[in-house]
Amino acid sequence: MADLDVVVVGAGFAGIYAVQAMRSAGLTVRAFEAGSGIGGTWFWNCYPGARCDVESTDYSYSFDPALEQEWTWSERYPAQPEVLRYLNYVADRYQLWPDIQLNTRVTACVWDASRREWTVLTDDGESRIARFCVMATGCLSAQHVPAIPGLETFRGEWFHTSRWPREGTDFAGQRVGLIGTGSTGIQIAPEIAADAERLYVFQRTANFAVPNRNRRITADEVTAIKAGYPVHRAMARESMLGVPVTGTGRSALSESPEALRKTYTERWEAGGGMPLLGSYTDLLISREANDTVADFIRERIRETVRDPGLARLLSPRAYPVGAKRLCQSDDYFAMFNQPNVTLVDVRSSPVVSAYPGGVRTATADYEVDALVFATGFDAVSGALTRIAVIGANGVSLRGAWAAGPRAYLGVAVAGFPNMFLVTGPGSPSVLSNMVLSIEQHVEFIRDLITHALSAGASSVEATGRATADWVAHVNDVAYATLFPCAESWYVGANIPGKPRVFTPYVGGVGPYRSRCDAVAAAGYEGFTLTTVGGLRWLFR
Ligand code: FAD
Ligand code: NAP
Repeated sequence: MADLDVVVVGAGFAGIYAVQAMRSAGLTVRAFEAGSGIGGTWFWNCYPGARCDVESTDYSYSFDPALEQEWTWSERYPAQPEVLRYLNYVADRYQLWPDIQLNTRVTACVWDASRREWTVLTDDGESRIARFCVMATGCLSAQHVPAIPGLETFRGEWFHTSRWPREGTDFAGQRVGLIGTGSTGIQIAPEIAADAERLYVFQRTANFAVPNRNRRITADEVTAIKAGYPVHRAMARESMLGVPVTGTGRSALSESPEALRKTYTERWEAGGGMPLLGSYTDLLISREANDTVADFIRERIRETVRDPGLARLLSPRAYPVGAKRLCQSDDYFAMFNQPNVTLVDVRSSPVVSAYPGGVRTATADYEVDALVFATGFDAVSGALTRIAVIGANGVSLRGAWAAGPRAYLGVAVAGFPNMFLVTGPGSPSVLSNMVLSIEQHVEFIRDLITHALSAGASSVEATGRATADWVAHVNDVAYATLFPCAESWYVGANIPGKPRVFTPYVGGVGPYRSRCDAVAAAGYEGFTLTTVGGLRWLFR
């Protein structure tokens, strides 16, 4: 007899909503969270400057209209403490705490084929039996620190941004080295530069960044936002990115240079990456179209950074704009005009080691008192493969994914019955407003579980054939775009030895939702339901 209907692993946006959704469906549920607080990304990434790049109007739950009316966001792009407060408010409001266990890492999940249940092992030495496992472990939660020889000899303190000390840091009077210039590096750099005596920014790949134009939301705007939620959310659900973005509906290649400049300038001034990239239909499909917006951004960098040589080094050329996450910052490029900031080009002269007093590149030594790694994550699959998941026939998830992660609709893995992934590989996930995608996935999983139970099934599993078809579709769509042209974490390129597979689904949030709805309407096409006696129904 199972202890629980559902074990949820993780208590970020996904785990929190999974607990609420499963409980509302009458299921017994318990979430295990490795951290000492809930919030996931917004608990761990408490580095200075952390804030979201999807507007608060979108980057918030939509499952309960009452919640939308009660909570008031203070900023267009809220900072980490406010998002964390929001998630704690949600847990309080729906009284989720009794079903969430903090400070508990799930180390293994083992499928018992005869009992058709999961045994879930945790690092406190306990084990629980559950009928279903919902893996809400996060696409960007498994931190990545590059193997730098000699790091253990470094005399100063070093930090990874996603494990920032909760008590904060004081860099006043210090020389700080920052490795990494992705979304995180670009957010934290100006904050460090404001405190530290000297900041060395070790840049391997120059990145595109657009302004946030972050600001406080006025009382009148709050009223309008709250009144507009039903329409706004409906539009978001049907959109490509999970955010209603109004484009021109035209190809950039059909526009005159003057019209392009006007559109890009208006969107640059308004701030935010999605409106800029969504302005023309072919920016992420045609390299020639993409060059028009890339040139525009490089021109803004030259305009901002006073030293032309520095501006050239900061101007991205290695990939099409948008093929890596488009960073957002109001002050990153301008920061390089400060006398205490030095850009170190580690593309031409790589980091070779750390030593007690600093960082050594192929051509120079940099004396630093502290080192900050903004070096990202073993994304999408990393948090899952760090757990010993053993499915049917003793096959491990690590083994099943040795050539790269594969999941039907990004939600279920063949050979792993009654286990579901929230925003797993092959779903819009990290290419969308993740909160909306999380809600859609959790609701799909909840409905699939209740469907299986009401059909008297003891297990439900994705078929190999449906998985193969879906993975092929995910690839076909991705390779029709510019996304795979970048050496990005979307393809696992940031982790040495990781198989290169394009993981997010580029086909769009609205079309993806329609596909999931059609699968459900067809009696969960592509899933097999098995009853206790072993009778199987195959929907394909
Ligand atoms: P997470 O928030 O990552 O939560 C997963 C949780 O699972 C973590 O708390 C982790 O500790 C726990 N966990 C993992 N493995 C185990 C285990 N074995 N046992 C127990 N617990 C475990 N997305 C956007 O759409 N817009 C944004 O503006 C945006 N900003 C971001 C800013 C930063 C700094 C980062 C890193 C990501 C950002 N993202 C953004 C992506 C963000 O990760 C998602 O939006 C969202 O917060 C993910 O929620 P989640 O619950 O799926 O995963
Ligand atoms: P990231 O995008 O993977 O960036 C990691 C950075 O570290 C890159 O600049 C990378 O260089 C560099 N790096 C890694 N190993 C290195 C090495 N050995 N030597 C030198 N440089 C090295 O990670 P992230 O910035 O943490 O962002 C991850 C994702 O989280 C984002 O894409 C985004 O989805 C999300 N995020 C969002 C926000 C937001 O604005 N809301 C903020 C932070 C994060 P290369 O490019 O050369 O590999």
